[in-house]
Amino acid sequence: MQITKPCVALVASPGMGHLIPIIELGKRLVTCHELDVTIFVVTSGDVSSLSQASCQNLLNIVLLPPVDISGLVDSATSIYTQLAIMMRLALPNLQAAISAMESHPVALIVDLFGTELLVLGGEFKMLKYIFITSNAWYLALNTYVPTLDKNELDKHVENQEPLWIPGCQPVLFDDTFGPILDRKNQMFVEFVRVGIEISMADGVLVNTWQDLEPTTLDALGDENKLKRAIKAPVYAVGPLVRPVDVNVRRDALDWLDMQPSQSVIYVSFGSGGTLSTKQTIELAWGLELSQQRFIWVLRPPIENNASANIFKTGIAFDDSSSYLPDGFLTRTHNLGLVISTWAPQTEILAHPSVGGFLSHCGWNSILESISNGLPIISWPLYAEQKMNAALLTGLGVAVRAQALPSNGVVTRGEIKSMVRRIMVDKEGYEIRSKVREFKYSALKASSEDGSSYNSISNLTKTFKDRWQCQNVED
Ligand code: UDP
Repeated sequence: MQITKPCVALVASPGMGHLIPIIELGKRLVTCHELDVTIFVVTSGDVSSLSQASCQNLLNIVLLPPVDISGLVDSATSIYTQLAIMMRLALPNLQAAISAMESHPVALIVDLFGTELLVLGGEFKMLKYIFITSNAWYLALNTYVPTLDKNELDKHVENQEPLWIPGCQPVLFDDTFGPILDRKNQMFVEFVRVGIEISMADGVLVNTWQDLEPTTLDALGDENKLKRAIKAPVYAVGPLVRPVDVNVRRDALDWLDMQPSQSVIYVSFGSGGTLSTKQTIELAWGLELSQQRFIWVLRPPIENNASANIFKTGIAFDDSSSYLPDGFLTRTHNLGLVISTWAPQTEILAHPSVGGFLSHCGWNSILESISNGLPIISWPLYAEQKMNAALLTGLGVAVRAQALPSNGVVTRGEIKSMVRRIMVDKEGYEIRSKVREFKYSALKASSEDGSSYNSISNLTKTFKDRWQCQNVED
């Protein structure tokens, strides 16, 4: 059969936070830029995530055989390390899958955890790209840290001084990225390796847009700032967010239909965010005391493991009444809705009755909130989420939850106050108007001739040129 257009292979690491933006990137390449796309999904066994990420039959999706890391990790192994190991183990499976394709892809695009898979670029003559499903500031950190010597890093890690990244907002110690704090941990080694491997790619795509992070994006392209560390050209291609699926009709949306405009705060800690029992109780009380309507995506509490639920996307969780304050569900019956399954987040955030988002600051959730013009209460839990929260504060689109220094708990009083600041107070109106500016700049960036649209066009031109050269050679 005659192959009529170039094919690009995308690889997603386990977890909805990676799969969703990879699928959206794939859809964009197919619909706006006339490429064929195959997405390879690395799984840890649970593939229910795929059914949650609508792909409208536009894409060829290939599930790689599940990787088994059980003998390589223990309960102390971080999620970051687990993902790095899973992607490493997936290499032979990806190699076999690409080798079996009728025509080899012209380019391979892997997400952040898959940088080791780019070795296949040489074998199959593919261009090599990395897709950062987070923001440009995180990319700056990841590529800058490997260039630092021990003494420079000590100032941040030991002396708790801000980390000054050339041309970027400094990373305060309190907001820092966990893996860089323990240099003996495998997590640090993996993080540095990824940073070095990024610089070997032909290009780096980031799920952000020029007007959201102009200074950082400029620094990444500036020889006197970060260009020497990252080397590869950076393409700001975002925001790539899952669009509303009009066929989704669930209880939450029916309930929202009956609520006044902008009256509901949506509370969710992403696909894996997990609170302790005490924190869950405080949150319940805080919501109740705020007297504001809410939808709360509730996961069972687990102690000392903020990402405990990360790979459990397809399941309905236990009966929540056992870990909520006595009588909470009855008392808040007319005020709120508790969801213990996977929530239709995109559809909820786009609903006119929703007026704010209490979020763990996963980057997808942030993009979805901004794209819907919703002010945010930032409550970061793990990974780069504290940096994301700091970025949001800098942009003026969020208020930030303050935990008690003694036990790390955000009290019911603080929760009540944050919800009211966003939903009732004048501050909330001001933040909402700021978020709306970014909502429109996001729309502009993704529209034809917008900055992100043009970035993807430039990228696809490179793919098409390469494809034509290869056809001539053949
Ligand atoms: N999500 C959802 N329903 C849920 C929980 C999460 O649709 O009940 C989606 C959410 O819309 C987002 C993604 O899962 O697109 C989570 O990604 P994010 O980067 O926000 O956080 P992570 O889960 O990676 O920490």
